[in-house]
Amino acid sequence: MTIPLVDLKAQYLSIKDEMDAAIQRVVDNTSFIMGPDVQAFEEEFARFCSVQHAVGVDSGTAALHLAFMACDIGPGDEVITTPHTFIATIGMLGRVGATPVFVDIDPQTYNIDPARIEAAITRQTKAIMPVHLYGQPAEMDPILEIADRHGLKVIEDAAQAHGAEYKGRRAGSMSHVAIFSFYPGKNLGAYGDAGAVVTDDGEIAEKVRLLRNHGRREKYEHLLQGFNYRIDTLQAAILRAKLAHLEEWNEARRRHGATYRELLSDLDLVLPYEPEHVRAVYHLFVVRLEGSLLQERDALREHLRAKGISTGIHYPIPLHLQPAYRHLGHTEGDFPITEECARQVLSLPMYPELTQTQIEEVVRAIKEFLGS
Ligand SMILES: *Cc1c(COP(=O)(O)O)cnc(C)c1O
Repeated sequence: MTIPLVDLKAQYLSIKDEMDAAIQRVVDNTSFIMGPDVQAFEEEFARFCSVQHAVGVDSGTAALHLAFMACDIGPGDEVITTPHTFIATIGMLGRVGATPVFVDIDPQTYNIDPARIEAAITRQTKAIMPVHLYGQPAEMDPILEIADRHGLKVIEDAAQAHGAEYKGRRAGSMSHVAIFSFYPGKNLGAYGDAGAVVTDDGEIAEKVRLLRNHGRREKYEHLLQGFNYRIDTLQAAILRAKLAHLEEWNEARRRHGATYRELLSDLDLVLPYEPEHVRAVYHLFVVRLEGSLLQERDALREHLRAKGISTGIHYPIPLHLQPAYRHLGHTEGDFPITEECARQVLSLPMYPELTQTQIEEVVRAIKEFLGS
């Protein structure tokens, strides 16, 4: 038996007829650019996120670029965020002339630690950008309170958290503007690249709509200097068909999380933290190896790999230590909790179609390695 980290083929096979029909519908009417499925998907996804507006774009990275521009983040501005995330969270900040300012994470949630944010605020700070990493919502209430007190915008990077909830509020609905990615492996994944900007602010939505499509209002009338960041109609049609299954898929991920948790509970592993007030959607199921096990991560991965079980490390190099950000002048030790997590985390297979037998197989292989 081979158990991948994510099984996109299993998902396709489970809804093959619906997917094939969605693709065929777009091909049949050749409405490849801004076809009717784009607006329909935007309406459906906005409803799913409990927000007024969703604007489809061609990647989560493009969504971040447009969200920064719509918040007027520009040269000299600083945006406070986490160093424990995928590089795309901050990649476009430099492209608008702004600088990421990192704040270390909370070792339980792996998300930005609200208690450390205020010390990082300067006169240049324009926004705070929490990331709901691994599908676990960031601790939003204190973040929103700090932002409010200092007159800062909040931008949620919800690329890994479609459908997650914090105190009954949906990821993407708690801030001025939020972004999602529909990269194929995300909880809601396209068959290629796609993303969305979501917001309750009509002005932000309008600006993002203009910018993603050459600043265009009418054909050949352009109000702003924009981009071609449009979502493909094909991807919108695929995402609509998949969105109808997202709740059931997220529930399946949560069940698998509970099963892992139960079967791994007597081992020396740190399991994902899920407080009462959040609904995590387990984009990844990440465990942490501590103490004497710390040196064993590579060996454990190799042991699992030999049994056909894939694992991942999200993420091995913190953003402040990435060569691309050397100019920020950070050194090892600047964000010790992030650095420690980067050395300890291990992502186990997690996707809705995972079976009980597969989970048991993963756990058996881990126990075999740990000799318990
Ligand atoms: C996937 C991801 C992105 C970027 O999305 P793309 O669609 O790949 O451009 C941004 N932030 C986080 C946290 C992500 O996981």
